[in-house]
Amino acid sequence: MNDTLINQPAGEDRPRQMYVLEETGFKEVPKKFRRFYRKWGGPSDTLAPNEVLCPVCKIVIRSLQELRVGDKVYCMPCMSRLIVQEEGGRLVARVNY
Ligand SMILES: [Zn+2]
Repeated sequence: MNDTLINQPAGEDRPRQMYVLEETGFKEVPKKFRRFYRKWGGPSDTLAPNEVLCPVCKIVIRSLQELRVGDKVYCMPCMSRLIVQEEGGRLVARVNY
């Protein structure tokens, strides 16, 4: 992490930060998809910029890149198609019909 990255505005032009996902021990999906999900630790659980909470089953969905408003994510545990939105300055997922 360096100062120039921190101080840049969150515009669409800014390259997205990429993440390396590690096995989380999440057993509810096939092994090859486990690293894309993890159990939520409750309200005190801080989500990373590449993570968003599924509003349906309360599982944390993890992306290989930083998430932004308008991104579509898929929650495999409950088969919900979700879209990333902003609410009170935080990213939240809403069911995308
Ligand atoms: Zn879900």
